[in-house]
Amino acid sequence: MNTRAYAAMKAKSELVPFSFDRREVGAHDVALDISYAGICHSDIHQVHEEWGPAIFPMVPGHEIAGVVTSIGSSVTKFKVGDRIGVGVFVDSCRDCDNCKSGLQQYCEQGMTGTYNGMERDGKTVAMGGYSNYFVINEDYAVHIPENLPLDGVAPLLCAGITLYSPIKHWNVGPGKKVAVMGLGGLGHMGVKFAVAMGAEVTVLSHSPNKEKDAIAMGAHHFVSTNDPAAFKVHAREFDIILNTVSAELDINQYLSLLRLNGTLIVIGLPGKPYAVEVGSLLNGRRSIGGSMIGGIPQMQEMLDFCGKNNIVSDVEVIKADYINQAYERTVKSDVKYRFVIDASTI
Ligand code: NAP
Ligand code: ZN
Ligand code: ZN
Repeated sequence: MNTRAYAAMKAKSELVPFSFDRREVGAHDVALDISYAGICHSDIHQVHEEWGPAIFPMVPGHEIAGVVTSIGSSVTKFKVGDRIGVGVFVDSCRDCDNCKSGLQQYCEQGMTGTYNGMERDGKTVAMGGYSNYFVINEDYAVHIPENLPLDGVAPLLCAGITLYSPIKHWNVGPGKKVAVMGLGGLGHMGVKFAVAMGAEVTVLSHSPNKEKDAIAMGAHHFVSTNDPAAFKVHAREFDIILNTVSAELDINQYLSLLRLNGTLIVIGLPGKPYAVEVGSLLNGRRSIGGSMIGGIPQMQEMLDFCGKNNIVSDVEVIKADYINQAYERTVKSDVKYRFVIDASTI
């Protein structure tokens, strides 16, 4: 099926209108009209080749919300008209221990990314969600609760699950002091989820103008990290720090904010290694952990949780011809708090 999209034709180039053919709907596939696609900072890292060589033309986009338009003959999970979400991967081996336990993002053979990679047939380049139409195997898509608006839901498919998963894994909840580093697309979902779980939540931000929004989202405290004194005032305060920052920074400063046995969870992926002073870890028996998106069962659990608790992303809905400005503004931390493309404008 001919598909309209926006693509980067080469590394670091602007995105331009583009078209390509998606596969026919197979027996286990569902087809969807995309309603909205979020702009994740990972899209920008990959267009800019900040994570190494990438495949071009690239149609980014892995925060996809839409409506099912047709289903294959063997499909049981969806019917035409269902609201459907697609995230960061579209397939995996299905056979390794991690796939079998619903942790497809950690597939031992590597998950099949929604774009910037090959599909499992080894010859089709995966094309992402900045497009009007998508085809996916039913096992790798999720249901969107009826009560939530599709534009605010799209970012849940990456930003949402990426924070929900570590928040559950590290038992963020009542009695825990949690800090979220960076109030961007991921960070603002981290605030909403950690607050919903009952934790005491602090935002650590280099943008003082975001304080009012952070508090409106439910954060209990806001700390401007531009003031070096903040690192003294808040030393040894937090049980858990969720680091969603997309840029390089001095990680040791942030480790000093962990109390005894505290953990800093790395989620942001600037593409360069952090220089960790081992003393920052030893002094306080501190840990560094990492977490990558979430598996299909947990994506569904997260969306159902959002449906029950009325949680969606704060979005700026844009037309497709604004994507390049949206990239520039995201890099400057100037977005409230996720750009979402209205796919009808592609
Ligand atoms: P984003 O919307 O651009 O948010 C990043 C935030 O980091 C900014 O809003 C800003 O918050 C802070 N920041 C940016 N530059 C900074 C600087 N120079 N110094 C200090 N703070 C800075 O990006 P996102 O879409 O949330 O993604 C965040 C990171 O997570 C990216 O690296 C992305 O690739 C990665 N990611 C990881 C996963 C995973 O599975 N682990 C999944 C998706 C994305 P303040 O203005 O509040 O300081
Ligand atoms: Zn993402
Ligand atoms: Zn696997």
